[in-house]
Amino acid sequence: MTQIRRALLSVSDKTGLVELARALHAAGVTLLSTGGTSRAIADAGVPVTDVSDYTGFPEMMDGRIKTLHPRVHGGLLSRRSNAEDRASMDAHGIEGIDLLVVNLYPFEATVAKGAPFDDCVENIDIGGPAMIRAAAKNHADVTVVVEPEDYAAVLEELKTQGGTTPGTRKRLAAKAFARTAAYDAAIQTWFHGVLGEETPPWHAVGGHLKARLRYGENPHQTAGFYVGGPVRPGVATAEQVQGKELSYNNINDTDAAFELVAELETERPAVAIIKHANPCGVAQGASLVAAYEAALRCDPVSAFGGIIAANRPLDRTAAEAMTGIFTEVVIAPDADEEARAIFAAKKNLRLLLTGGLPDPEQAGMTVRTVAGGYLLQNRDAGRVGRADLKVVTKRAPTDRELADLLFAFRIAKHVKSNTIVYAKDGATVGIGAGQMSRVDAARIAAVKAREAAEAAGLSEPLTRGSVVASDAFFPFADGLLTAIEAGATAVIQPGGSVRDAEVIAAADEAGVAMVFTGMRHFRH
Ligand code: 5GP
Repeated sequence: MTQIRRALLSVSDKTGLVELARALHAAGVTLLSTGGTSRAIADAGVPVTDVSDYTGFPEMMDGRIKTLHPRVHGGLLSRRSNAEDRASMDAHGIEGIDLLVVNLYPFEATVAKGAPFDDCVENIDIGGPAMIRAAAKNHADVTVVVEPEDYAAVLEELKTQGGTTPGTRKRLAAKAFARTAAYDAAIQTWFHGVLGEETPPWHAVGGHLKARLRYGENPHQTAGFYVGGPVRPGVATAEQVQGKELSYNNINDTDAAFELVAELETERPAVAIIKHANPCGVAQGASLVAAYEAALRCDPVSAFGGIIAANRPLDRTAAEAMTGIFTEVVIAPDADEEARAIFAAKKNLRLLLTGGLPDPEQAGMTVRTVAGGYLLQNRDAGRVGRADLKVVTKRAPTDRELADLLFAFRIAKHVKSNTIVYAKDGATVGIGAGQMSRVDAARIAAVKAREAAEAAGLSEPLTRGSVVASDAFFPFADGLLTAIEAGATAVIQPGGSVRDAEVIAAADEAGVAMVFTGMRHFRH
């Protein structure tokens, strides 16, 4: 609990100000305030000291300088339990400010009403954000409030507990930094607008520019790689051990590859091969090399020029196999000396080492732009386990089918919708990605599996005796029938279609086992 003896109030939006000042005064809090705020408080008959009387400096330059003074910032930043800070306060007549209530010049509203350039500039608040950041940094001792909607909660704690709790101060500090970040982002966006430029969306949200890329998805597009958000092992934080500069598409595909491989159980070596952000082969195996070879079998034609992700440190045999065909990027938690030496012979190949795997269930956000705005959502951290599955057919899957079903569904989550994934013995054997109809996805995956088998000189398509996963429900039985025809013996899908009964009946008739997950994994 931190007591509040002195508060500084400086607000442009005067909503609720008088009530707040009155309540603080009644609780024995001394009030300091700036020009307009001070007048509003004094007019209501509440005692208040002007900041300029406290600092001994007048407000000047049309209010550009009001609170920018060591007696204010020292009062906000001094650590109350630090002897040297206390000595500085005593030496310079600085009094502790325990509560800061600030809301900023209405920059956003000024821009929104189409004000002239100079008015917008004058509405860039300087002292307000400086004080907010000082108080929020010193949240151990200081409470910072940036919105009238938080007045009541602070007053309530003051009344019932005589001060604010550390939890409340931390929460308010986070909100304070969010406010100053959004404020600066609004200023930046406005400047870009004045210059006739677009604001890069992530720039407006946060993060910093890690690299200007040679070009974007295509050579006529410009692009940058921004790093920010929660730290996760992955392409943004990886060490690039060798190889050419990463391109926009490399970064996008490498991210898809590593997120996918991290999704699989960590006990077994696993490899994913990605092209254009979709997997063209994923497998688990007794060793990394076995996993790589099984992944490659799924679609060796597409794997050419692909991106490979592994879920454990690369060794010699894995490196030898992975350098057998042209590969753009390899990403893994680590690589031993022998593996590094083998990769080093392929000068252009980019080798990225991350030091670990990302937690697939970690919270995070995804951002995507739309004309005139952007969409933010939580990342798809949903994961289906055995306990979530509901058997809906007469026949339940065997243990072996069950393991493959879960494997296939985890992969389906990382494939562009509509998605159909066939898998067998811990390896994908057919992947249908990004189709506008589910039945096409099922058909294309089966055709590719047949071609891969023919290329390998096998008499049977790889999908014979496989299981199949669908990222969303089958709206009709046709997609399921296509998968059964290709040789699938068990099915995993979310369920929830109005025609579920029809789809279940089709599975039962073919003696196929089907489980519902209750969770969908669209990916666009
Ligand atoms: P008032 O209405 O009290 O005169 O002014 C309140 C506004 O001034 C608040 O929005 C606060 O963020 C802002 N402010 C406080 N100190 C300073 C300063 O030193 N410089 C600038 N530019 N604005 C300040």
